[in-house]
Amino acid sequence: MKDKYRIPRGTYDILPQDSFKWQYLEKVFREVATNFNYYQITTPIFERAILFERSVGDTTDIVEKEMYKFKDKKDRIFALRPEGTASVVRSYVENNLGDFAYPVKLFYFGPMFRYDRPQKGRYRQFYQFGVENIGSNDPFSDAEVIALAYLFFQKLGLKNFQLEINSIGCSNCTKDYDNALIDYFKPFQNDLCQDCRIRIKKNPKRLLDCKVPSCQKIARNAPSMLDYLDDGCKQDFEEVKSYLKLMKIPYRINSRIVRGLDYYNKTAFEFINNNLGAQNALAGGGRYNGLVEQLGGKNVPGIGFAGGFERLILSMDQENLPFGDRENLDVYLVAIGKKAREMCVVMLQDLRRADFSADLGVENSSVKSQMKKADRSGAMFTLILGEDEIVKSSVILKNMLSGEQLTVPFSELIPTLKSKLISQS
Ligand code: AMP
Repeated sequence: MKDKYRIPRGTYDILPQDSFKWQYLEKVFREVATNFNYYQITTPIFERAILFERSVGDTTDIVEKEMYKFKDKKDRIFALRPEGTASVVRSYVENNLGDFAYPVKLFYFGPMFRYDRPQKGRYRQFYQFGVENIGSNDPFSDAEVIALAYLFFQKLGLKNFQLEINSIGCSNCTKDYDNALIDYFKPFQNDLCQDCRIRIKKNPKRLLDCKVPSCQKIARNAPSMLDYLDDGCKQDFEEVKSYLKLMKIPYRINSRIVRGLDYYNKTAFEFINNNLGAQNALAGGGRYNGLVEQLGGKNVPGIGFAGGFERLILSMDQENLPFGDRENLDVYLVAIGKKAREMCVVMLQDLRRADFSADLGVENSSVKSQMKKADRSGAMFTLILGEDEIVKSSVILKNMLSGEQLTVPFSELIPTLKSKLISQS
């Protein structure tokens, strides 16, 4: 293939032989989220760029370096969404969703886009699942959102993951903490990367998040946010932890979690799989109490998380976990001759209308090759219609597991197939 037609770097096709994995993850996530009384929301994959610049933050890597920005034909600046929360909160405000429920509980799936260096578990287009719980400041909501992710991973059968939690406080605690960070990092200023030298001035917490190894080494002994929490944040964090204990969800405190997005405050958490290598976060999230107001809504709190399907699939493959099976085709139709083919076309439509999964052999191919295709299709039954059968107004139904063949009158086809399929399952 000519290079100019190749797939863009950092993206991939979900091929037919793999799509059942994605369908399975969506199905289980939808079931778990629905059991928690969450409703699905779907937002556009592009938004005004300013939405992300304001909410995710213009000093974050995501906005500064990784956003796919473009102008439309009227010179308006849009961006492919790099994450889901900003769009969901935008929709919450724009559609007054807060008037309909309290808290508003939403879940979503979809592709996200970040121009980052592709590697194992990191793509330029990746598929996220996530939830947002908007309206409640109760620490129970924090624990519930964490519990949803935890139960999802458990339902998939995953064992190799840990929950790490932190509190990054509110604006009241951050001031003192930012000053403590500045005091700590200043003596190392010349050893920090170019970006971190700017971060010290603009947003010192981002230093804790830097991916450059020499910066990470310096950050290791930086002061912990947990020592700077005010009484309210301390109390809330204690309550989140006690709810997690009640729900028997094991966690580890990791005061290094700051999250790569600016809108977070108070509870922050990540689910980590250490067997994944450098890109080890399965999901991450936290509270974002100022975000709704920042995007033009009321002063309403919120909490959510997002995770990536690609890393989940890697983790499940590592643990040899099943993704459910694609259901077998119920029946494959083999027609011998022109007349039989026409009758099979009608039968095919009737079978599909009656909710059977069914397919028909290719026109003009020999019986032998059609039978081979029937075998390869994995169908439970093969239906054979030739001249003899037409005369008798019946078909041959072959059970592909036992090899048993039955002659079934046209009028009996649907009830016979139904009862045979039930007795096989
Ligand atoms: P974030 O929005 O950065 O907190 O990411 C949330 C989750 O999305 C991560 O824990 C990953 O599972 C997934 N994720 C983020 N960025 C990527 C990427 N570039 N490629 C694949 N998965 C990603």
